[in-house]
Amino acid sequence: MAHVGVVGAGVMGAGVAQNLAHSGHRVALVDNDPDAIEKALAGIETNCRMSRLLGGPEIDAEEVLARIDSGTDLSLLADAEVVIENITENWDLKRSLYLEMDAVVRPDAVFVANTSAIPITRLASLTGRPRQFVGVHFMNPVPMKPAVELIPGHHTSPAALERVRTLLISMGKKAIDVNDACGFVSNRVLMLTVNEAACLVYENVATAETVDEVFRSCFGHPMGPLETADLIGVDTILYSIEVLYEHFADSKYRPCPLLKHMTDAGLHGRKTGEGFYSYGPSAAAAAGPSVNGHRADRSLSAN
Ligand code: NAD
Repeated sequence: MAHVGVVGAGVMGAGVAQNLAHSGHRVALVDNDPDAIEKALAGIETNCRMSRLLGGPEIDAEEVLARIDSGTDLSLLADAEVVIENITENWDLKRSLYLEMDAVVRPDAVFVANTSAIPITRLASLTGRPRQFVGVHFMNPVPMKPAVELIPGHHTSPAALERVRTLLISMGKKAIDVNDACGFVSNRVLMLTVNEAACLVYENVATAETVDEVFRSCFGHPMGPLETADLIGVDTILYSIEVLYEHFADSKYRPCPLLKHMTDAGLHGRKTGEGFYSYGPSAAAAAGPSVNGHRADRSLSAN
């Protein structure tokens, strides 16, 4: 079993830490926000306890949590063989973190970037170890999703790629190999779809519920694009489409103003209790009035 560092304890980092610890690995979970760590550990405990009820395997929550060390100090990563980075989709934040981590993490360790859109070669260039740098685009919720995109950077060594593939297999993941490009395969398509769906709501063509119903009822998708946006995080959608817009300098990726408005208002989706949908009366009350009149109540068990 490996010793794996997980940086960022938000939606993705918490899921990656849970999946790793449940698979028997030792995890060092680091976030610069102590509240995020507390929330992540509480979420992991709840997920493990609820697993059986939700049709999953019986999971011993205490055993899983006992494999996770956590804190705000990057020195926790010093002995990790692999470090999986899952911080906010923001170039400047990721840039500072990789510069710092490169000095702290042992030189033979492999860095894994979990990013929605930033090219892996660009992130790898921040470090002195571009051969030991791999992209993994995990899907959300991490413990429940069977596949990931696996992306080598320009200089990634075959050994580093296989090291990460082996770790993914131990986590129960199938790795789908794709080449390095902004947004990879999934988000080159998905972010445009979600952005355009937000524009339909912004222009009052349809409510969020109607947009999603078209995708569910007409196309047979299990979730519509705006339910998906709430699951991913409306802020993360905005940051990802901004990365695509900047990278390609192409107006087709221009972010919908509604995504900016919702991000500024803290309507980030499930993680804040309010997004295109409201996740319960207390969350709705805390978030204030609706944006553009597009919200509808949606219970957390909807997906
Ligand atoms: P999130 O906003 O839920 O969590 C980000 C976490 O990073 C926060 O807890 C924040 O405190 C922490 N953080 C920020 N700067 C930090 C730093 N310098 N050091 C340590 N911690 C720091 O975001 P998320 O949804 O978990 O996304 C994380 C990454 O994964 C992003 O790059 C995102 O694009 C990518 N991603 C997200 C999804 C998704 O569905 N949400 C899917 C695949 C990939």
